[in-house]
Amino acid sequence: MTESPQDASDLFWSGPSPYCEIGRNHPRDRHRMKAVEGHELVWGCDRHSLFARLVASHQAESIKRNDEFPMHDGSEGLVTGLGDERPGGTIIYFRAK
Ligand SMILES: [Zn+2]
Repeated sequence: MTESPQDASDLFWSGPSPYCEIGRNHPRDRHRMKAVEGHELVWGCDRHSLFARLVASHQAESIKRNDEFPMHDGSEGLVTGLGDERPGGTIIYFRAK
């Protein structure tokens, strides 16, 4: 990857926070993530230690589950899955390595 997610300036998200990935797969446990303070377009779920970030959809095409994914706080992370593609970008779910 030559372009870091932070470089994409055409990303936008409107409406409520994205659903937690766990809830996407278990509809009876559907809950939303919370915005991570100090980081734009990053959300977290305390309950599941999961995070989500919006990336450009063309970047998301090359991202797969279990890929390394740098965390918003600088530590190493792993992709746990991809979420919805929207006009403003695609959600990538990740957790600490
Ligand atoms: Zn959760």
